[in-house]
Amino acid sequence: MSTVCASCSGRCCYDIVVRVTPLDIWRIARAQRLAFDEIVVPWREPEPTPAGVQIDATSERYATILGQHPVEAGACAFLMHVGEDVKRCGIYADRPIVCRVYPFVVNKGSIDIRPDARCAPTDWNLATLDYGGFRAGFGRYAAEEAAAAVIVRAWNERVASGELAPSFAAYLAFAEAACAAFPHIDGTGASLERWNEALLPDDVVAAHSAWLVAVAAATPRR
Ligand code: SF4
Ligand code: SF4
Repeated sequence: MSTVCASCSGRCCYDIVVRVTPLDIWRIARAQRLAFDEIVVPWREPEPTPAGVQIDATSERYATILGQHPVEAGACAFLMHVGEDVKRCGIYADRPIVCRVYPFVVNKGSIDIRPDARCAPTDWNLATLDYGGFRAGFGRYAAEEAAAAVIVRAWNERVASGELAPSFAAYLAFAEAACAAFPHIDGTGASLERWNEALLPDDVVAAHSAWLVAVAAATPRR
């Protein structure tokens, strides 16, 4: 944890919508011994989006987001109080990628502070930032979003064809099966980090192709 975050009361963990990918949920579920539906809830997208999940018979689309804290209004479900006004992420080692790269953004190839960040640029000593680490984080973020898009598209297509009945619980089961079939899911994730590379080695292409087939096949049917 950065020294800036260590002296903050977790402002970025309040009043926010934390969109997570299936691979985020997979990691948290395995590490925290939680079921998928104990980690996330559906959140209706204000505008229809291809990344949105169909979970009912309407045309609404939903994001998968972290749940809310049971006691503290507006806080993330995983925010932990460890003392007087001292708050920490309770799943720090397994927190979603979007939380790992916060409050930074890639801006014209450079790493910058998000304009909507809860902390000010002046809070950070940018000269000491691990830019390479954040770039790697953003690369992985993009890769996991691409993997999420594959899962959501496969789900929505099968719902549209009438093959699967839409519900949030059924979508989570579908997403979990897809994650379980992902190559090297419990390994280093090296193949995932190379997902977006233009020239993938044949073995990685083959592994990912097999995964796409698995997403289509190893999922619950009505
Ligand atoms: S990212 Fe910013 S708002 Fe969030 S804990 Fe760190 S200093 Fe606080
Ligand atoms: S998962 Fe952790 S870092 Fe992310 S919003 Fe929740 S408490 Fe904050």
